[in-house]
Parts: sequence; C-alpha cells; structure tokens
Amino acid sequence: MTFSIHGLAVSRGVAIGRAVLVASSRVDVAHYFIEATQVDAEIHRVRAGRDAVIEEIRRLQDSISRMGPKEAPHELGALLDVHLMLLQDVELVSGVKHWITERLYNAEWALTTQLEVIARQFDEMEDAYLRERKADLEQIVERVLRAMKGAGSPMASHGRPARKQSQQDLLLDDTVDVPLVLVAHDLSPADMLQFKQSVFAGFITDVGGRTSHTAIVARSMDIPAVVGARTCSQLVRQDDWVIIDGDSGVVIVDPSPIILAEYGFKQRQGELERGRLQRLLHTPAVTMDGERVQLLANIEMPEDAALALKAGALGVGLFRSEFLFMGRQGKLPDEEEQYQAYKRAVEGMKGLPVTIRTVDVGADKPLDDSLRDDAHLNPALGLRAIRWSLADPAMFLTQLRAILRAAAHGQVHLLVPMLAHAREIRQTLAHIDHARAMLDNRGVVYGPVKLGAMIEIPAAALSLKLFLKHFDFLSIGTNDLIQYTLAIDRADESVAHLYDPLHPAVLQLVANTIAECRAQGKDVSVCGEMAGDTSLTRLLLGLGLRSFSMHPAQILAVKQEVLRSDAGKLAVWAEQVLASEDPALLLVRH
Ligand code: PEP
Ligand code: MG
Repeated sequence: MTFSIHGLAVSRGVAIGRAVLVASSRVDVAHYFIEATQVDAEIHRVRAGRDAVIEEIRRLQDSISRMGPKEAPHELGALLDVHLMLLQDVELVSGVKHWITERLYNAEWALTTQLEVIARQFDEMEDAYLRERKADLEQIVERVLRAMKGAGSPMASHGRPARKQSQQDLLLDDTVDVPLVLVAHDLSPADMLQFKQSVFAGFITDVGGRTSHTAIVARSMDIPAVVGARTCSQLVRQDDWVIIDGDSGVVIVDPSPIILAEYGFKQRQGELERGRLQRLLHTPAVTMDGERVQLLANIEMPEDAALALKAGALGVGLFRSEFLFMGRQGKLPDEEEQYQAYKRAVEGMKGLPVTIRTVDVGADKPLDDSLRDDAHLNPALGLRAIRWSLADPAMFLTQLRAILRAAAHGQVHLLVPMLAHAREIRQTLAHIDHARAMLDNRGVVYGPVKLGAMIEIPAAALSLKLFLKHFDFLSIGTNDLIQYTLAIDRADESVAHLYDPLHPAVLQLVANTIAECRAQGKDVSVCGEMAGDTSLTRLLLGLGLRSFSMHPAQILAVKQEVLRSDAGKLAVWAEQVLASEDPALLLVRH
C-alpha cells in the first residue's frame, strides 16, 4: 500500500529505487555488486565464515563441558546452543543466498541485509525472551563478518556501481541492477563518506537537520536525500520500492504506477535542467551590472578537487580537513599523510587557491562512532574545532606543519574554525609561528599562506575589529552562525523548523561582517550552506558578498542567479530586507 513520509529536503532531485535498510553500526561493511560468475564463490565465502564460527563455538562447548558449574555456568552452554541454532537457521542461510544470487550483493552486504530482515521480525515478536534473541543474532553475524574478514575478501574493486535505469527498465526489471536507496536511522558524516563512491542512488535517515554534517556530505554527493524522516527506517521494509523527492523532503513508499510515472517525469526534468546548466560552465560569473563574483567549492577529500574543477570552481573556499581524521578508531593521520593529502588537493586544483580549514571535529562530527560521547549535554557548545586543536597542541602543530608544507606546491589559505576569544587568536597565531620554526629547524621547505578566520559564533561577528586586525580574510560559516545565534541544534530535526537563515539577527550579523570586511579591503566569503542556496543568492549579492563557497554541484545554479542579477539594484532592496521584521516575506515577493 502506498504511503508517504515527510522529512527535510537536503539534496535535490528524485531517486527511485528499492530500499536497503542499514543499521548504523553496520555501514562499514563493503557494499558492491558482484558479477554473475562470482555468485558461487561469494556464497562459499559466507559459508566458510559461518563454518569457522560454528567450529569455534563447538570448540568452546567442548572446553566448557570439561569445566565445573562454577567456571562455566549452565547459561553459557545454553547461550552457545542458541548461537549454533541461529547460525544454522534456514531463513538466515536462504536469505543470504537470495541476496547474492538474485541481487548480486557481495557476501558481507547480503549477510547484513538478511540480518536486518530477521531483526525486524524479532522486533515484532510479543514474547520478550524471543525479542531479546535479536542481540544474539547480531552477535553471531558480527562474528561471521569477522571470520570472513580474517579469510580475506576480494575487494570492492571487483564490484560495479548500480546502473542508472530508465523508468521503463524499472517497471520491467525487478531483479538485479535496480537502483538502490539507503534507509538508516542515523548515519554519521564518516559513514556517509564511506558511501561516496557507492552504489546508492539516494539516502533517507530518521534523524538529522538540514545543515547537519550528514546532510552536507549527502549534498556534496549530489544525490537526492531526505533526513529527519523520523520513523522511516521502521516503516520501510527491506526491498520496498521507494521514491525520494529531495526537493520537497517527501518519501513515497510502495508507489502506484501512476505516481512512479509522475516522479519518473520529474526525474527526467531535473536531468534536463542540469544539462542546460552545463552550458554556463565556461561563462564568467559576472552580474548584469558588471560585478565579478567568485564561485568556490567546498570539499571533504583531496579527490573532490577534480569535481570542483569540473564544476567550474575558481578555487576551494573550504576544505573540511576533519574528514581525513574521522573513522580511524582514534589513530590520527601523521604529518606525512596529511601533507600528501593537502598536496593532492593543491595540485588537483592546478594553481587555483585552496582554503584548508584546520580540523573541526566534535558536535555532530565525532572522530569515531565508537568515541561518540553522549555524556556531553551540549556537544555543539563543547570541545570542538579550534578548541579541540588548542587542547592538543601536538596534534595541532602536526596539522599546521602539513598545511604549511603543502603551501610550497600552490596557493594555500589557512582557515581557522570557531574562534571567539582574543586569547584563542593569539594562541593560534603563536602555534602557526611555532610550526614554521619547527620546519625551519628541520630544514623542510614550506610556503606562504594567507590566514583566515571563520565567523561562525555570534561573539566573533560582534568583534570584527579584533579579527580583521589579525587575519587576511574572513569566511562566514552560516551553518554554525545560525545554530549559535538562534540556539538551534543544527543536527536536531525536532527544532529544524526554527533553523532560519533569514532571521533578522542572523542577517544583521552576516551583513555587518561583509560590510566591515569590504570597508577595510579584506576578502570575505560565505562558506556555509547559505552560499549554495539559490533562493538566497540575490540577497547575499545585495549585501555586498562577492565570494561564495559551496558544494561543486551547486555552482552552476548559483552562477545562473548571478548572471540574472543587477548588484546595484539588489543593494537597495537588501537594505529593505535588513530593516524588515519578516525578511522571508520580502524574499518571496521579490
Ligand atoms: C559553517 O558552520 O557554516 C561551516 C561552513 O562549517 P561546518 O558546516 O563544517 O561546521
Ligand atoms: Mg562550522
């Protein structure tokens, strides 16, 4: 039966495919398609993993049978029996076989998919004892996965991405090669990164706000996504047909042929529009009255530089370096690894400037899921970004040295997140000097950098003189500036309706920052999500902004807005918007 779920639209476009439910804890297993010729080998891999675990349990049973009741309580034996029974469960075995044979999922993916199917059945059981067996099932699957890892797995390079299909194909072909959409309760930004090269055509999560980092990564992948869909992962079943409308935030489950046809049409319209925008690729971003506008890219990994260039970016306005640090079980990248990564980004941009932001972990960007520290009541107000760097000088100096060394290979701007206090600014500058001195001592080559600060805390936006005294440029992080000005957790879908870029207080802080920088001849850009939102391009131009940094996928759409704008006229209108009690109303009317 068709039903729809409403969430927050975070990444444009329409995706139509079958649902793949993934538990947050299992997103790190490889997801790829195998070739039909590999089916037997893949089934053999799961069987071998399962047999290894059965063997292990039997050995354990053997040894406990020789122990007394004190060393090995009766419950332990019973638990092992349950585990053995679950491992041999027909539904598990046949289900895994089904996903491999019919859908060509790789072994690990097939196993975790079937786990989700059975876990759902356990959840629905009335009997509490049986319901609790879900945890046992999860444990044994975890062990089989580990056993398979030990045996070594053919890597995803054998795999191939899902084929893009037409609407016609979708209705005819119901087995393999159907686009897949990922449905999860929650995904961390690091999880999302795992899926950057993945087979999925769209994403849905139960939690998250529009500018949560999970949403930001989804947007950078330029595939339709909806977050904050609340109970979606419970309502959607494995393999259900799902439509994701990333423009309106609607998810339609089990759509009728008429709805499918309607969204298929919308999907094609979107593709045509993207095709049309491509014509602007080589057009300079200049307003109708001759104002030049710099359109820059936000990237997460060095390899994204290629995407930035392809989209016509004039540089990288924000390289979120923290993505190099995440999902590594706390083992941080050393100076050499970081240097190589920054150098790849710099060389990838072929002489265009690259703004590398020092690490910004914390809040909704934990280093590692296992290190997620829920004990902090307000992680967004906690040890995050520059605060974290200053609390660990050795780590910070390592990063600074790596960035300075990369600056020998091209234009590098060094950007510092979340500064608010004069003391933090002084300490940061001292660390940069210290990093240079360390490189001098070692006789290592490094290059010059322009120094920038992010304006993303209201206190910073209200202390601009201090910032302008010490920095060459400022970059407005509107995602956090909105969060901290309005006291709205950007990752919390329950307050997402109050997260408002057009609140007069937010606009005032943004406008002042731009005006102050311009008055002092300093560069200023916006690198928060506002910069890539085409409904705000004209307002930002009117406020005097001439440098926008956004996901590469947004650049051409923003350029189109720039080309249609008259900056002089917009400046007059922007004054009215700033003075208004309800700026959103004026934007709609304009
Ligand atoms: C911002 O806060 O606007 C920003 C660009 O930084 P991040 O989204 O990574 O916090
Ligand atoms: Mg920020």
